[in-house]
Amino acid sequence: MKKIILHACCAPCASYPIKLLLEDNYTPAVFFYNPNIYPLEEYEIRKNELKNYCKKLKIDFYEGKYEPEKYLECVKGYEKEPEKGIRCSLCFYLRLKETALFAKSKDISCFTTTLTVSPHKNSSQIFEQGKIVSSETGIEFIEYNFKKNDGFKISRTIAKENNMYAQKYCGCQFSIRDIN
Ligand code: SF4
Repeated sequence: MKKIILHACCAPCASYPIKLLLEDNYTPAVFFYNPNIYPLEEYEIRKNELKNYCKKLKIDFYEGKYEPEKYLECVKGYEKEPEKGIRCSLCFYLRLKETALFAKSKDISCFTTTLTVSPHKNSSQIFEQGKIVSSETGIEFIEYNFKKNDGFKISRTIAKENNMYAQKYCGCQFSIRDIN
């Protein structure tokens, strides 16, 4: 079993990637680094839901810093971008970079992310940022397109079975307007 750090944004999105990684003979440790999530109450709900799910599965869970000011600085000037635009690329970069650095600190040689499970996200846009981070850190980014093979549908089924909280927007304050 090879160790891997799985960047995760929430419990429903992490459910299927964890299952698939285990089937693929990886030992995933989950890293929750999502300074994009707004507001703090929402951040806490998503974090606790994921933490509890990891506990249930006996999977290691780690929390990164909650630093929304760093996220806002990172996407400055791109607040009005639509989803899948430049703001999202910057957001992916920020989260994946921190994940790779975390993997490095734990002597784990590879990482991936649950973000590709969402049908609202373009996997190639996420892979692009993963590759940049990988070349900057020397930590291998494993390109898992988790939405493939009904990945999203399976993740929602697991979420329902486990009675998980399911959010209605991606995470940042700018994505809230998309549901209004
Ligand atoms: S819409 Fe989602 S991926 Fe895009 S910037 Fe906001 S939180 Fe990040």
